[in-house]
Amino acid sequence: MRRLVGLLAILALLGVTGATRVSAAGGTIYEKATTLDESFVVAERLRAAGVDVALTRGDDRYVELSRRAAASRGADLLVSIHNNGSTSRSVVGTEAYYQIGNRFGGQLAYDIVRRISAKAGTVVRGAFTRRGDNGDYYAVLRESPATAIIVEGAFISNAGEARRLSTADFRRRIADGIADALINRLVLTPVPQGAGPPAPKSTPVGAVLPAPDGLAAAFAGNHAMNLSWRAVTGATHYEVWRDGRLIAPNVGSGFTDRGLATGRHRYEVRAVLDVAGAVVQQSNSAITEALVPWRVIVDPGHGGRDPGAVGRW
Ligand SMILES: [Zn+2]
Repeated sequence: MRRLVGLLAILALLGVTGATRVSAAGGTIYEKATTLDESFVVAERLRAAGVDVALTRGDDRYVELSRRAAASRGADLLVSIHNNGSTSRSVVGTEAYYQIGNRFGGQLAYDIVRRISAKAGTVVRGAFTRRGDNGDYYAVLRESPATAIIVEGAFISNAGEARRLSTADFRRRIADGIADALINRLVLTPVPQGAGPPAPKSTPVGAVLPAPDGLAAAFAGNHAMNLSWRAVTGATHYEVWRDGRLIAPNVGSGFTDRGLATGRHRYEVRAVLDVAGAVVQQSNSAITEALVPWRVIVDPGHGGRDPGAVGRW
C-alpha cells in the first residue's frame, strides 16, 4: 500500500522527528531529518503554485526504495531529496542525478543544482547520470515510471556544511532552489501557441454571429478538460481551438478535450452558421484559460531505521 501523506497531516508532524541534536559547542545531524524538513518546504511552495503534490513520507519512518519509486506512477515527476555523504570529509557542494537518456530530467536536474547554489551559496558540482548493472545505478531512478531526479543539496559529511544544514535558514534556501527550478519549468514555462483562428466569415458582409457567452473550462482529472458555453441563437455548431490550433471544427453544445499535456492551456470557442454545407458566418472567439496541473511526488530521502548520512561538527 502506498502511504502518500497530505500536507495538512504533514504540517501537524513538523518538529516531531527529533533527529537533530545541536548545542553551542557542536552537534550531530541526520540526513533523514534534513530531507524531511526540506521536502515540506518544497511541497508547500509547489502547492501554492498550483501543482498537485504528494509525499512518500510525512514523518520519521522507513519507506522501501521500490515503494518510493512506485509512488510516481501516473505522476509527471519524482524528486528524491537528499543531502550527501562522502568518506572524504573535505568534499562540499550541490549535485543531482537523473535517469540515463532522460533529456528533460537532465535539464531540470542541472537547473535545480544551479538554483540551489544561487540561493544557498553552495558549490556547483553538476548533474550526472550513474550507470549500474541494470541501467540506472540508483533504484529510485531505475524503478520510477516517471521522470525522477535525486537532489543532493550539501555534504553532511563535511563539518561546515553539516553545521549549515543544522539551521532552518540553510535548509529553506536549498528547498527554495529546488522549488524555484520546478515552478519555473513546470508552471511558468508557457505552452507553445499556434497562430489562432482567422477572421470570422461574414455573409452577408457585416453579419457576424455573437460570441458564445459563459465559456468555462473545468479540469476533469486524468489529463482531460470539460468545456461548456451557452448556446448562440442562429448557430449550427461550434469550433474549438486550443493553444491557437483548431482541435474540433464541428461540435455541439459542449466538448471534452482529452489526452492533454500538463500546463496552462488557452481555449477559444467560435459559433458557426452552416447553410447547405457551407460556412457562411462565424463569431469572434470566446476565450478562457485553464490549468492541467502537474503531479509531482516529493520523496524525503531515508527515514526511520535508515538515518542516511550522519554529520558532526
Ligand atoms: Zn541520501
